[in-house]
Amino acid sequence: MSLPLLYEIPFDATRADGRCTEGITPRKSNWALRIDEPPFHAYPVTGGITFTFGGLEVNRQAQVLNTGGRPIHGLFASGDILGLFFHNYPSCTGQTRNVVFSRLAGRHAAAQGL
Ligand SMILES: Cc1cc2nc3c(=O)[nH]c(=O)nc-3n(C[C@H](O)[C@H](O)[C@H](O)COP(=O)(O)OP(=O)(O)OC[C@H]3O[C@@H](n4cnc5c(N)ncnc54)[C@H](O)[C@@H]3O)c2cc1C
Repeated sequence: MSLPLLYEIPFDATRADGRCTEGITPRKSNWALRIDEPPFHAYPVTGGITFTFGGLEVNRQAQVLNTGGRPIHGLFASGDILGLFFHNYPSCTGQTRNVVFSRLAGRHAAAQGL
């Protein structure tokens, strides 16, 4: 049985093309292509979280800020718990963020005698 395509629009891997399915769950919202010619190959896959959008807010000393924008004494943060990617993900910047803010956190924590 071939899957119906809601929109008969050209496949375009370079953008969310809106070429979607209907009648199956979960619905495929983009890049839907019919797979109706053998040979068929199947591979096990799983989901993973590469990073999250949003997170704790810190200042340039890696101090965590409260909801009023003031540093919380003795609390520093780095890594995935930080907010950074609010609109898009510039490739490979995750570890750069981690290294930079971890160094800042360590330096300023040491300077405070923590
Ligand atoms: C598939 C994938 C691909 C990625 N590719 C890139 C890339 O190409 N470039 C890039 O820059 N970044 C990439 N990242 C992001 C990068 O790996 C993360 O930003 C980085 O690992 C975050 O480091 P972290 O120390 O903040 O968190 P984590 O590496 O998640 O470390 C947190 C640690 O805390 C431990 N922990 C959790 N809860 C507790 C607890 N209660 N008690 C004790 N320990 C606890 C966990 O076991 C874990 O070891 C990728 C991530 C993923 C998942």
